[in-house]
Amino acid sequence: MSTRHTFYALNPATEQTLAGQFAEHNQADVNLAASAAHEVAKSFRQTSPKTRSLLLQAIADCLEEQREAIVERANLESALPPARLNGELSRTTAQLRLFADVVEGGLWQEAIFDTANPNREPLAKPDIRRQNIGLGPVAVFGASNFPLAFSTAGGDTASALAAGCPVVVKGHPAHPGTSEIVAKCIAKAIEAQQLPQAIFTLLQGTSHELGQAVVSHPAIKAVGFTGSIHGGRALFDLAQSRSEPIPFYGELGASNPVFILSHRMAEHAQSLAEEYILSMNMGCGQFCTKPAVVFVAKSKASEEFIATVRQGIKQQPGQTMLTGGIKHNYLVQSEERASQSGLTRTQSQPDNGVPSMLFETTSDEWRNNPQWQEEIFGPQSIIVVCEDDQDMLQLSTNLAGSLTATIHAEEPDYPIASRLLDELEEVAGRIVFNGWPTGVEVSYAMVHGGPYPASTMPASTSVGAEAIKRWLRPVAYQSVPEALLPDALKSQNPLSVRQSVDGK
Ligand code: NAP
Repeated sequence: MSTRHTFYALNPATEQTLAGQFAEHNQADVNLAASAAHEVAKSFRQTSPKTRSLLLQAIADCLEEQREAIVERANLESALPPARLNGELSRTTAQLRLFADVVEGGLWQEAIFDTANPNREPLAKPDIRRQNIGLGPVAVFGASNFPLAFSTAGGDTASALAAGCPVVVKGHPAHPGTSEIVAKCIAKAIEAQQLPQAIFTLLQGTSHELGQAVVSHPAIKAVGFTGSIHGGRALFDLAQSRSEPIPFYGELGASNPVFILSHRMAEHAQSLAEEYILSMNMGCGQFCTKPAVVFVAKSKASEEFIATVRQGIKQQPGQTMLTGGIKHNYLVQSEERASQSGLTRTQSQPDNGVPSMLFETTSDEWRNNPQWQEEIFGPQSIIVVCEDDQDMLQLSTNLAGSLTATIHAEEPDYPIASRLLDELEEVAGRIVFNGWPTGVEVSYAMVHGGPYPASTMPASTSVGAEAIKRWLRPVAYQSVPEALLPDALKSQNPLSVRQSVDGK
C-alpha cells in the first residue's frame, strides 16, 4: 500500500469504464484521517446539540441541491433506476433530518439521577448522575446495494455525527463517483457550520487492505458495516482481535422468513402471490429484507398460490445487478443450489440481465438441508410446502437470526399465529403482520437488526432513531459539583432534556 494508484468506476449495465479517476487511498491516508478525527473528537463531542442538528440539516439541504447530479451518477454506477434512486435520496435526507431532531430532542443522552442521602446507614449514599457521550471516531463502510441511504451520508454517518462522533467512511468501490459528490456536500456543510473538516473523511479504494487498515487503526472506536457475511465476519474478527477490541455493528444478511397460515392463504392466494413476486424481485432482489423463504401448508389454495408465483416468475424481465461480482455470486450460488436434490426450480429467460428464480421444496427436505437458509443475494426465493400449519410452526423453531420474520394470518389462524409470534421473537429484529418485509420505515420505533447473522450486535438497530445508541457510551458522575457537571446533568436543566430521578 505504499504507492499511489487510481481506479475507475464501471457501469454494470454496459460494463464500460465511467468517466472519473479515483485515488486508491492507502495506509498513510488512513493514518492521516483517523489521527485527525481523533484530534477533533473531544471538541466535536462537546458541541451543542443545536450545532450538530444544523450540520445534519445543512448536509440534507446540499444533497437536495445536488439531487440531479447524484441520481445521474448513482444510476450509471449502480444500474438502479432513477425513480428508485430519487426515492433513496429522499430517504437519505429524511434520515439526516430525523437525526437532527433526535439530537436536539435530548432523549439519547439518557440523563439519570440518583439523589444523595447523607443520612443513609451504614454508608451515606452519594449523588450519582449518568449520561451518554459519543464513543469517538467511527468507521463506516458504504454498502453496494444502497449507494445513498447506507453509504457516505447514510444512516450510519448521520447517526454517528448526531452522537458527536467524527466519521471516516470507507466508500464502496462500486460507486466512487456518487460517494465523492456526497462527500463534497458534507464538506460544504461542515464549512458552513465552521466545524473542523477532520470530523468527516471519505477514503476510497478497491483493496481489502484499505478497509482492514481503517478497522485496525487505534483511533477508530466503533465500526458500522452492511454487506456480506464473508467480508463482514472478517472485519468483525479483526475488530475483536485488536489490542483494544471495538464494537462492530455489522448487518450481514438475512433470509426474512414468511409464514402464510391456512385461512389467510384460502382467502388471498392470488394477491399474496402477486405481492410475493413484487417483494422478491424489487431492486433485483438486492435488498437485505428480501423474503428469501416462504412457508405454506398443503392445500388447494396454496397450489393456486404456487402456480401463480411460477407464472409470475417466468414473466419477470431481466434486471442488471449492482456489480459484476454480485452477478457472478448470484449465478454461481443459484446453479449450485439448483444442482442439489430435493428442490425444483422455475426461472425466467430474459434476453438481458439476470433471471428471476423460484425454488420449491418440502418441509422434510428443508429440515435435512439447513444450508438453504443461507441467503442468495438476488431475485430468488424458496417456497417450503409443509404438511399443515403445525408442521410450519415446528419449522419456525429452527431458524437462523434474521432482520425480519413475517406472519400472514386471519382471525381463525390466531391460535397458531400467537405461538408463531413467540418463536419468531427469538430470531427476528422485526415482525411483520400481513405485509411483506421489503421497505424499512425510518422512524422512532424501527428495529433493523436481530440475532447473528442479521447483526453482529443483536442489541442494536442500524435504522431509525435508536441507531444513535450504537455510537454512545454511558458515563456516571459521582459527587461532581453542579458547576462542573455537563449541561444535561445540571439540576437547572438548561438543555431541557428529560431527566429521570430515582427511577421516576
Ligand atoms: P462485501 O463484499 O461484503 O463488501 C462490503 C465492503 O467490505 C466493501 O467496502 C469491501 O471493500 C469490504 N470488504 C469485503 N470483504 C472484506 C475483507 N475481507 N476485508 C476487508 N474489507 C472487506 O459486499 P458487496 O461488495 O456489497 O457484495 C458482495 C456480496 O455481499 C453480495 O453478493 C451479497 O451476498 C452480500 N451483500 C449483502 C447485503 C445485505 O444487506 N446483507 C448488502 C450488500 C451485499 P473491498 O471489496 O474493496 O475490500
